[in-house]
Amino acid sequence: MTKRRTFLKQTALAGIGVSILGNNLSKAESFLNILQQKAEKFVLPMLPYAYDALEPHIDKMTMEIHHTKHHQAYVDKLNKALEEAKISGLSIEDICKNVSKYPAAVRNNGGGHWNHSLFWGLMKAPGEAIAKNNLTDAIQSAFGSFEDFKTKFSEAAKNRFGSGWSWLVVNKDKKLEIGSTPNQDNPLMDLSDFKGVPILGLDVWEHAYYLKYQNKRADYISAWWNVVNWEEAGRRYDKAMK
Ligand code: MN
Repeated sequence: MTKRRTFLKQTALAGIGVSILGNNLSKAESFLNILQQKAEKFVLPMLPYAYDALEPHIDKMTMEIHHTKHHQAYVDKLNKALEEAKISGLSIEDICKNVSKYPAAVRNNGGGHWNHSLFWGLMKAPGEAIAKNNLTDAIQSAFGSFEDFKTKFSEAAKNRFGSGWSWLVVNKDKKLEIGSTPNQDNPLMDLSDFKGVPILGLDVWEHAYYLKYQNKRADYISAWWNVVNWEEAGRRYDKAMK
């Protein structure tokens, strides 16, 4: 009886999670609310586009494996680690912000879940010109020009040794700043050396590019600029500046 009730409760919660995440993402709405949503069990969010939507810059097979195998594994291992540590009812964002209190498995897999959920929403099918918004204006004034910004961000991505992420954040002084983090750490984490509210994030783990680009991380980085979702990044910027 107890077992059955627990099962039904979990199934119901997972069902709600799936529909909320699925709906939001399929409409390509902001990820902001999803990342702040409290959950007993985390679920893999649906992509707001098809696996082949980012071709030719990011190939279909990479996207499919990255989403259904790598991201799914972070979600599964995060749920297991939270269950073992008897932690529940928090949002993934709150978990990241207080990650020093939790076991290493929560840091690695919670970071993996948060980072990838953000990453999917920060990309879209290539083709449209970049629309001017508050973020693009702020980038120009902070870095001199859009090209200088791209160069600096790309350098951070290239120079991150081993696996990790490069970031554009709004720092504590409300200024844009570029940096990177190792493994699945992110700038929200209380124990990170590089802190801020992430506006853009780029996955530079080999699993993100190896099938198409092999060892050529720089080629993957320059291709990635073609699929950045500047509308989503702009929404994140506006919220971070409030
Ligand atoms: Mn990844």
